[in-house]
Amino acid sequence: MIAKVVVDVPSGQTDRQFDYKIPNQWVQILEKGMRVVVPFGPRSIQGFVVEIVESSSVEKLKEIKDILDVTPVLTEELLQLGNWLTEQTLAYKISSYQVMLPAALKTKVEKQLICIEQKRLPRSLQPFFATQSLVKWDDIIKSEPGLITSIKDAVKQGILEVQYSVKDKGKKQTHRMIDCNFSKEQLSELLVTLPSRAEKQIALVQYFITNEGKVPLIRLIELTQSSRSSIKALVDKGVLVETEEEFYRDPFINETFEQTKPLPLTNQQQQVTTPILKSIEEKVHKTFLLHGVTGSGKTEVYLQVIERVLAEGKEAIVLVPEISLTPQMVDRFKGRFGSQVAVLHSGLSSGEKYDEWRKIHRKEVRVAVGARSAIFAPFENLGIIIIDEEHEGSYKQEEMPRYHARDVAIFRGKHYNCPVVLGSATPSLETYARAKVGRYVLLTLGERVNQGPMPTVEVVDMREELRAGNRSMFSNALFEKMKDRLEKNEQMVLLLNRRGFSTFVMCRDCGYVATCEHCDISFTYHKTNHSLKCHYCGHEERMITTCPSCSSEHVRFFGTGTQRVEEELGKVLPEARVIRMDVDTTRRKGSHQKLLKDFGDGKADILLGTQMIAKGLDFPNITLVGVLTADTMLHLPDFRSSERTFQLLTQVSGRAGRHKLPGEVIVQTYTPEHYSIELVKEHDYVHFFQREMLIRKSSGYPPYYHIALINVSHQELPKVIHVTEKITHFLKQQLSSEANILGPVASPIARLKDRYRYQCMIKYKNEPAFGKILREIQQHYSRETAQGSLQISIDMNPQIFM
Ligand code: ADP
Ligand code: ZN
Ligand code: ZN
Repeated sequence: MIAKVVVDVPSGQTDRQFDYKIPNQWVQILEKGMRVVVPFGPRSIQGFVVEIVESSSVEKLKEIKDILDVTPVLTEELLQLGNWLTEQTLAYKISSYQVMLPAALKTKVEKQLICIEQKRLPRSLQPFFATQSLVKWDDIIKSEPGLITSIKDAVKQGILEVQYSVKDKGKKQTHRMIDCNFSKEQLSELLVTLPSRAEKQIALVQYFITNEGKVPLIRLIELTQSSRSSIKALVDKGVLVETEEEFYRDPFINETFEQTKPLPLTNQQQQVTTPILKSIEEKVHKTFLLHGVTGSGKTEVYLQVIERVLAEGKEAIVLVPEISLTPQMVDRFKGRFGSQVAVLHSGLSSGEKYDEWRKIHRKEVRVAVGARSAIFAPFENLGIIIIDEEHEGSYKQEEMPRYHARDVAIFRGKHYNCPVVLGSATPSLETYARAKVGRYVLLTLGERVNQGPMPTVEVVDMREELRAGNRSMFSNALFEKMKDRLEKNEQMVLLLNRRGFSTFVMCRDCGYVATCEHCDISFTYHKTNHSLKCHYCGHEERMITTCPSCSSEHVRFFGTGTQRVEEELGKVLPEARVIRMDVDTTRRKGSHQKLLKDFGDGKADILLGTQMIAKGLDFPNITLVGVLTADTMLHLPDFRSSERTFQLLTQVSGRAGRHKLPGEVIVQTYTPEHYSIELVKEHDYVHFFQREMLIRKSSGYPPYYHIALINVSHQELPKVIHVTEKITHFLKQQLSSEANILGPVASPIARLKDRYRYQCMIKYKNEPAFGKILREIQQHYSRETAQGSLQISIDMNPQIFM
């Protein structure tokens, strides 16, 4: 038998299937979707078995060296999904398979077998597990290769389990457990024979006379004041047995979740829930857009439709943006579904992620809540997929395979005949447009729960403030309201919109701006260690004191960072307690959670932060939201900048007045007349949609046109220009006259990490051969790109144009 294998060498030249002979002892065992080790040139590498056939056209075949799984890690459906991803995103097959699995499965790991049920263990395997419950795979297979069939059966029946131990430093995954082999009578008999100086052994025996069951070794020592050596003495006598027991690294282990019950739905909620439930019952795939204003109770709708899915014995995936994977959001799902929920987010270590993935793979949980990659949760009986805040840019992966989670969701929804629900207060234009033409079913929640009013939004023109002599970063209006809230003991959120805007360093005399020598990007000034940092490549330098260009000493930093706002608050509102949330204060694991909890517990008056505070927070006492700089994103070279501005302002406004107290929002801006700011006042998404669509139409952007972006980079500028020109030329020949090919031009970031960058953008409507043409380009340069000197990235649906 022959296995067709996709090998772990991501390059254009190896992006195909290779045939390997399956050694006889594995013919019965090997299945599609398992990982294997195969010889490849002089090396041994990993690969995925994608097909098993009886013959091969290749004459001299090499043999598979090892199999890494006893159950497939990729189901049939995921294999298909991988192929589809490859086609859609022009990725390498291996990248598409790997993106669906936790990283731990990619690294070198040690395979181990854990015995779950000692009693049912087949006789042939018993010797290996007599004194321990965890045995290295190699220890068994090397001594008796023939046992693999029994192992596979035992795994299938849940008697044994395969585990890959990931070398996660400082993290243990096993407890040493002590159990007692003797009955209580035997123990009592033993007790009288023990010499009285053997105090510790006596204490141990007494412990097991009065207590039942296994106990962790450490705990046992604590409880009995005994020692390892006395335990060992009893183990040697056969009284006690020592086992190693695996436990999950549960990131939420120290938290308790208050159990919640479904709330009686409001009329509006009822109306949007019905069609989703119908789709679940009738087992027909539909994509729903749940357009609900902030605070309209979307999450409660999600919870109740999931409940139905679980009642049908099916599973659910819920995607939320990374930054709103806050404890609040997680609590709501864990509170309703308890231990049936696995949570996947980037804050987990690779071992923790792998543990969560495994709970899904083994069907121990039925709800996966997570950021983008949770869309690949290996469920096999999906009943619903929900994407909250569907407009979020983070649902698009910006490296190969460049997929959008929304597209993957719909692919899987079709496969399982189940609904996909896209939820947002500010849907992406593409999504809303599809809902309007009926490709998605539009469901609207137009009001907040309990008809609570939307917050009032006031736009303040900062140019006028300046004219009136106010040089502070707070307008008079905002400052007055802040003072007022402090007096009333209500909470506030201050948003500093920092994307595309930072604390840059400039010479006041000659205008020199300090930039990274590798990237052509302005340095960001970091106050804590008085340094200049490049946020693209990480390069760091000491803050300069004289201008390298004119030697003047008048170099200053400009722009407003959260630290500066915090300092300023300390001056103008010294009594206010401030919690600052940005990349610097949330770097440590768990700090994000802690800061939010403190704020929720009322330990601060002001939550000051960047984009990360704009979403998902639901605190009853917030009655004021201040946006310090609304328009910083508006001027980025990106056709979505208006859309993103409107979305962010709407989202952050939604944090105010969500419960009993009414909310107010102050938006400070230098461009108050811009429609993306103006329309936030009215909370008028539909109007914004109409305005923005006109612009998209006239300038030929999505959703009217598709866009593809080709980015070329190389250390030498002439080479980059040459290659990009050739590509552009080739595309002009190959595509229809309807396609609009722009470029070559230097990328907005013209140099990154010492590589020059050029791009070519293609706007098109219908080019059936486009995929094939792009593949040709990839193939043409495959040798050079494999060496790494030249990089060509193709993005079929770019979200970022840098
Ligand atoms: P969204 O996700 O649309 O922003 P949420 O689901 O967070 O809105 O709901 C806002 C608030 O209203 C939450 O505190 C939630 O517990 C509450 N809520 C939602 N649905 C109901 C309901 N049917 N009855 C009472 N309160 C509800
Ligand atoms: Zn740099
Ligand atoms: Zn200067």
